[in-house]
This record gives sequence, structure tokens and C-alpha cells, in this order.
Amino acid sequence: MEKEIVIVGAGSAGLMLSIELARRGIHSTVYERKRRVDDGVEKASGILSKNGLDRMELEYRTSIINDLYGADIFAGNEKLAVMAKSVVAYVVDRKKFINLFYSAAKEAGVDVLLGRELNRETLVDMAGRGDKIIVGADGALSHVASAFGFPPIHRFVLTYKAEFDGALVEDPKKVGVYVGERYIKGFFGWMVPYGKSIAEVGIGIDSSAKKSSAVVFDSFLKNSSISNIISGSRKIAGHASIIPLEVRKKTVLGNVMLLGDAAGQVKATTGGGIIFGILCAKIAAESIAKKLGGREPLGEYERRWRALYGADLKMHNMIHSYYSFLNSIGPRNSGYFIKFLKALGVGEFLSKHGDMDSPKAMLKRVFIRK
Ligand SMILES: Cc1cc2nc3c(=O)[nH]c(=O)nc-3n(C[C@H](O)[C@H](O)[C@H](O)COP(=O)(O)OP(=O)(O)OC[C@H]3O[C@@H](n4cnc5c(N)ncnc54)[C@H](O)[C@@H]3O)c2cc1C
Repeated sequence: MEKEIVIVGAGSAGLMLSIELARRGIHSTVYERKRRVDDGVEKASGILSKNGLDRMELEYRTSIINDLYGADIFAGNEKLAVMAKSVVAYVVDRKKFINLFYSAAKEAGVDVLLGRELNRETLVDMAGRGDKIIVGADGALSHVASAFGFPPIHRFVLTYKAEFDGALVEDPKKVGVYVGERYIKGFFGWMVPYGKSIAEVGIGIDSSAKKSSAVVFDSFLKNSSISNIISGSRKIAGHASIIPLEVRKKTVLGNVMLLGDAAGQVKATTGGGIIFGILCAKIAAESIAKKLGGREPLGEYERRWRALYGADLKMHNMIHSYYSFLNSIGPRNSGYFIKFLKALGVGEFLSKHGDMDSPKAMLKRVFIRK
């Protein structure tokens, strides 16, 4: 029996899957609850590694706002500077970026149905007929996951971010990362330059903190390292949002699969989920094609994506635990910790070998120095 492919969610993961399926001659239908794919996407930032974007196999250059070469990581009164010789990442305009996927999907003949929310009853009914493969690419609070009884995700980061026009950005080629108690408890704060005079500032806090991210954001802005950048600027708009902080324990049940944020395919260090969502979409397309050809069960998707990216996502989780460590030792000691890293040459190492997606690749370089 020919199976219909239903993708829930027209985010980057769901649309990438539909494009990859079309590249293999497989038709799919994407259901999206919003009336436009770019509605509300400005709630999230867009820092994406150049390597990751190149692997997407979609032309992305028109969405670039700024080139990034490195980062300044602040803790206590210290700063660890990382600066590569060439571009390592881009700041992308999220509205333009998601529209690239939408146009490519439409061009490939995918049916993208906008303003069509799939509720629990419809999803269960669709699955019950047995003639469909359903893919939940429906974001951090996935309805598909809860409708089909996937193990829940317990840890989330609550975020708040805003843009500041007329800011004073010292070096627009560098992101600012702020960790430890002096700046923020829990996750981290960031400053993403769009250029010399526009910066995005944001924070994330662990959902278990039971605090308002908007309130924590306001106190973060009072920190001198941030107030120096934004003083005299105009706050454009503020947005709160949510990021899953752990990989879901299972991502395939019967004919239902999860992808992207719904699967927790997110870096726990930064909350970045676009590149891993896209890479896993490619694996999902391959697995669906093999399932339709009777060559392997759908569960192979789970095995494959974990084999390729599971270790990296775990390592991001391990590195994330250093945020709690920096919080627990207080501002002065977190400053000493940064000093210690500097003395070890960590700044130089990251400048030369840093990989914002793959700690596994960086670790390899520690042992196999060229
Ligand atoms: C403040 C912030 C900053 C971030 N910064 C970065 C960054 O710099 N780099 C990076 O890589 N990532 C970043 N992220 C994470 C990134 O935004 C997500 O990982 C990415 O958007 C996930 O893509 P997705 O397609 O899995 O899900 P989403 O983009 O969430 O898309 C899911 C879609 O499903 C739709 N949907 C949900 N339920 C239903 C339903 N029942 N029926 C139909 N449609 C439905 C939604 O409307 C939505 O369009 C950030 C996130 C936040 C909040």
C-alpha cells in the first residue's frame, strides 16, 4: 500500500524533510497552524555555523545579516576571546531564512497547507488508518509527541530577547556570551551583533527556576557590560520563547516520527537547533524512502541519527553542566576559572579548531594535532 507522508510543522526541520523527500521523488503534505511560515520566527535568533549551512544544500546567502569570526566569553571580571581567521558563522534573518525553505518546498511540489493546525483527535485518527507516516516537526512543545505517548522532555530554557537600534558594538564580528552568577543564573546571556549599531541581546533561564524570563532580562540589561553597549539605543521589540534542553528518549513509535525541536535535536550549550534539525531531516528522508521501498523499518531513523549526532548532542549537554558549575563557584572564582582556561591556551585552541556544532570533531583535534 502506498503511504501518504504527513509532516506537522513548517519550521526549518519539517520543510527540509519535505524538500529532501521531493528530491527522492516522494510527495508529502506539510500542515502548518500559522497563516504564514514567517509569523513569529523573530522570537528566536539565527546564528548558524558556515559548515552547517553549507551542508544544507540550499542557497542561503540572501538571508545573511552579518559574518561572525568569534566570540568573547565573559564570566566574573574575566573574558576569554576566541577569534578565527575566517568566517565561522553567520547571523541570518530568520524571516528570510524560513522563506527560503518555503519557496524551495513549493518549487519542489510539496503541498504546504497554511492555517491548518492538526489537533490530537485528527492526528490519532490519521495514524489509526495505517496508510500514513506522520512526522512531528512541530517544535519544542510537540503535540504529536504528546498525542502518541512519546516520552516527555522535562528540561526547557525560557528565553527573552530584544533588538537594540543605535547600539555601540565594539567589534561586530564577535558574539558576546555571558555566563556565571555575575550575569545570569542557569543558562546564559548573549549579545549578537547585526552590525556596528544594531545588536540583539537575550537571556535564557532554566524552566525549573520558576522565574519570568522578561524580569531576568531586565536585570541582565543593567549589567555594565551590556548597558555600555545599549545605552542610548532604542529597544525594538521583546519576545519570550522556549527551547528544549534534552534529547527525547524515543523518536519513532510505529509509523510516527519526531524531528527537530520536537525530538530535542538541540545543542544544550546554546539552544541552537536549526542545523541538527536540518541534518536529521536528511536522515529522516532517507529512512522514509527505505521504508517505502520495503528495505528497512522506520525505526532505523532513530538508530541512524543517534549514531551520527547523538554523541555531539550528549557532549553539548556535558558542556552545559559547566554553566551550573560557574554559577556554583561564585563570580570571583568563575573569573579565576576563565583565567585558568586562558593560561591553558583554550582561547587559541578554540580560535584555531573551534566547532560550534561538533564538540566530537574538536575533541578529535585535541588528540590528532595537525
Ligand atoms: C531565543 C532563541 C534563540 C535561538 N537562537 C538560535 C540560533 O542562534 N541558532 C539556532 O540554530 N537555533 C536557535 N534557536 C532554536 C531554533 O529556533 C529552533 O531549534 C528551530 O526553530 C527548530 O526548528 P523546528 O522546525 O524543529 O521547529 P519550529 O521552528 O518551532 O517549527 C515548528 C512549527 O510547527 C508548527 N506547529 C506546532 N504545532 C502544530 C500543529 N499542531 N499543527 C500544525 N502546525 C503546528 C509551529 O507553528 C511551527 O511553525 C533559538 C531559539 C530561541 C527561542
